[in-house]
Amino acid sequence: MALLVGIVNLLIPALIIGIILIMGTIAARNIADDTANRMSRQYAIESAANFQTFLNPHMRLMQQMAYSVPIARWLASEDDITQRAYAFNSMMSYAANIHHIYFMFTFYDTHKSYDFSPSLTFNEFESWGHLVDGGTGRWFYNTLDAEAPFIINIQRTRPDEYGNFDLYIWSNHRIYYQGQIAGVVTIGSPFADIFNAAFYGFDIDGKRGYILDQYGAVRMDSAGILETTVAGVPFPPTVPEAIDNPNLAYEIANHLQRLQGGLFPLGILSGEAVRLAAGDYYYASISPIIGTNWSVMVLSGSVGGFDVRFMPVIIVAFVLLVVFLIAASLASQRMILNPLRKLAQSTNEIDEDFNTAIYGVERADIIGTLATTIRSMLDKVKISKNAMEQAQDELRYREKLLSATNQAAEVLLAAKEEDTMSALMYGMEIVGRCVNADRVQIWRNEIVDGELHFVMRYEWLSEIGEQKVEVPTGLKFPYKKVDGWLEMFLRGEGINSPISKLPPRDAAFLGYYEMVSIVCLPLFMDGEFIGFFSVDDCQFEKVYTDDEINMFASAGLMFTNVFNRSKQKELAYTDSLTGVYNRRYFLETAEITLRRCIEESSNFSLIMMDIDHFKSINDRFGHAIGDEVLKIFTARIRHVLKKDTLFARYGGEEFAVELEGVSQENAVKTALRLSQVIQDTPFQIDGLELNVTASFGVASKTSVCTLLEKIINNSDKALYQAKSAGRNTVIGYTEEPEAN
Ligand code: GH3
Ligand code: MG
Ligand code: MG
Repeated sequence: MALLVGIVNLLIPALIIGIILIMGTIAARNIADDTANRMSRQYAIESAANFQTFLNPHMRLMQQMAYSVPIARWLASEDDITQRAYAFNSMMSYAANIHHIYFMFTFYDTHKSYDFSPSLTFNEFESWGHLVDGGTGRWFYNTLDAEAPFIINIQRTRPDEYGNFDLYIWSNHRIYYQGQIAGVVTIGSPFADIFNAAFYGFDIDGKRGYILDQYGAVRMDSAGILETTVAGVPFPPTVPEAIDNPNLAYEIANHLQRLQGGLFPLGILSGEAVRLAAGDYYYASISPIIGTNWSVMVLSGSVGGFDVRFMPVIIVAFVLLVVFLIAASLASQRMILNPLRKLAQSTNEIDEDFNTAIYGVERADIIGTLATTIRSMLDKVKISKNAMEQAQDELRYREKLLSATNQAAEVLLAAKEEDTMSALMYGMEIVGRCVNADRVQIWRNEIVDGELHFVMRYEWLSEIGEQKVEVPTGLKFPYKKVDGWLEMFLRGEGINSPISKLPPRDAAFLGYYEMVSIVCLPLFMDGEFIGFFSVDDCQFEKVYTDDEINMFASAGLMFTNVFNRSKQKELAYTDSLTGVYNRRYFLETAEITLRRCIEESSNFSLIMMDIDHFKSINDRFGHAIGDEVLKIFTARIRHVLKKDTLFARYGGEEFAVELEGVSQENAVKTALRLSQVIQDTPFQIDGLELNVTASFGVASKTSVCTLLEKIINNSDKALYQAKSAGRNTVIGYTEEPEAN
């Protein structure tokens, strides 16, 4: 099938080219024929016109003389000297300015001839003799017999005294006197002159011209100045080309039919050119020399020196050139332009990753070279683009890490005291999100049963992490569970590794919690190792970059700072001896609680207590034993109170309890329980058994007493009353004593 298509593809253009060639050849031949035809006719007309132009003034002179009455009279009476003189004067007046023209007058009766030229004197105007009958004088009889009043012939001049002669063209006109032929006037001019006029340039233009007489005989041949009359008879008798060419013979015969009265009249045009069968010339064309009975025949074979026979060859060459140009253009389209277009398209369509194949790289030509060059350039662009993008990505990521660090700093360092917890959580979230982690945890050190553990305190979980195994807050592990971690953390070093690269035991332990990669960084507060924080990736194996580790380290410092601040705050509000809140914390916190209770119209009570005769304990057992009493006292009170009840050391051996939502009546009951827990069991210190008691004063917020200061004052008053009442007593404040 493909072969068939290929053959058809070849055949169709071949057929078209063939048709173009044939038609072109035919057209060229027609054009050539037509051109040669026209040229041939034109040459004939031109030659005839030239001939005529040259001959015309002579003919006119001849006719003037032929119709001159004095000349006719003289020819009618040869011996009348007067008539001869008149005739001579008439001749002179006509031919005064003529040179190189030969006139001759011949008498009909005597055949005597007189030569005339303007340089003659009348005395020299004498007859040179008479014509010989027949032979060279045949023209005379022809003139007398001619249908036309004159004939033309070509003939030698009479030999001069040295025997030399010229070839002349002669026109011979009959002259009548009173209806009778009186003689003949002859005018002659050198044959060479008219030959040149008629056939100028014929040799070099590939033309041949004949001058034909009224019988169709060749009288002049442009091929040479030939004497074409042999013994007065024209030779050759006919056109050589017409011998074997009936068409030409017919054309000549037909042409000669158009003679009217022996002459070609005005209005006769040249006939059709006749195509010649073979030979040097293609066309023969005959044209009359108007006003004479002669004609011009021109044979032509080329146009303006260009041989029209080559025309088809040139047309074929031209067609072949056009075909070649079309083929070359198609080939260049196919071989160069289309591939280039494809190449350009393929490079245009290259995607961002430069994955698209560039057209033409396998080609071994210039397209291939171009494609290879483009590819190598693109590869370079790709490499530098990748490097640039990588650098930009790194910068962008570093920026992200820095911004995360800044954000975390803002959150963690500027958090208000009551927000530290959420700030911590938010800080962990910032860290976790920044590195796309799944978990961020803070583990604090704690001694449990005399052994150092790490306890999970704070945790942030990503929503994308699908941790199925929970890591509960408060989960604790002894450091001995993981080999070398404690030593490593104490050296200030951390872990940054995919789980798979850790020792098998650690890997198994951590893997249980679905970690894939982990970072652990130790936390230090005032040089003390307080725990670590960990970042877990539960999806990807990775080793975090230095930039990321730096960010983690900064976050770690900020977490530590949060812990440090809450520790400082704790210290500021805590009594260092007993570990309970101090007076400052008590006052600040109670103030807030009281305001809330006023707003909520709930109860608010205070218990103030003071150890009885504490000074004597110090005095008897020493200050250290006094301190121990304070500690035990505190522990016992703390133990009785609810965990979140505010209890503070208000002064040396004076303590305060805030009871939110508790009426004075119930507060008194609480105070009684507290007094019980102190007095019921002696204090055991260094083998001593000390019976310790305390006095309690209770007061509450009332409709008239809403100031903390006032309530404290009232409970102090109640305490004073308890002391006064013998100590180890609980007194609820009443208004009565004040009334006293
Ligand atoms: P009363 O029953 O009237 O309260 O008698 P008291 O001795 O307890 O009262 P006083 O105010 O006269 O004495 C209080 C003593 O408590 C005076 C002070 O030296 C002592 N004290 C205060 N703070 C401490 C402390 O932190 N440790 C020790 N060991 N003694 C302290
Ligand atoms: Mg006391
Ligand atoms: Mg006291």
